Amino acid sequence: MAKYSEAVGKLVEEFAKLPGIGARSAERLAYYVLENPGKRALPLARALETVKEEVKHCSVCANFSELDPCHICRDPRRDHSVICVVEQPKDLLAIEDSGDYRGVYHVLRGHIAPLENKGPETLTIAKLVERVRQGEVREVILATNPNLEGDGTALYITQKLAPLSVKLTRLARGLAAGSSLEYVSKDIISDALEGRREIRS
Ligand code: ZN
Repeated sequence: MAKYSEAVGKLVEEFAKLPGIGARSAERLAYYVLENPGKRALPLARALETVKEEVKHCSVCANFSELDPCHICRDPRRDHSVICVVEQPKDLLAIEDSGDYRGVYHVLRGHIAPLENKGPETLTIAKLVERVRQGEVREVILATNPNLEGDGTALYITQKLAPLSVKLTRLARGLAAGSSLEYVSKDIISDALEGRREIRS
């Protein structure tokens, strides 16, 4: 027998699909929406609709943005000759939160994972090579995650960029191997950026 009406059940089901939300939390969120006076949940519904309709990818760095180029790529106060390469927009946020980085970014939108059939062509690597080839880039910081896939992806990019005369660096090993940037503290990210080492290919 169904526990909820169809509409409520659908809402619980949708909340439960969100990352980190278990069945109990999904139920709590759904009832929060239902029990709230007036139309308080409508701004949430509209915000969801707006991000899905208006937020696209920046054509330069591939980060999420409703502006193209995004606010980082169009910021004249940033150093456009240094590109920090990250796997996901979440990693970009983690580096921005560290507060020390003044360059720009390139979001790969994933990593190379042969076992999951994710080859380099599914990422924005060709676009990165093109960006570097345009000439004004001095340094590319490979800030993929310090785990198997992240290291493999960094190695692949190193090989692709080796023929171009650009300095390649990798975040320092203060980051625990196997970890993920999004869960690392600001201080550790700051140190890892500060202590980045040049890759010699
Ligand atoms: Zn951008």
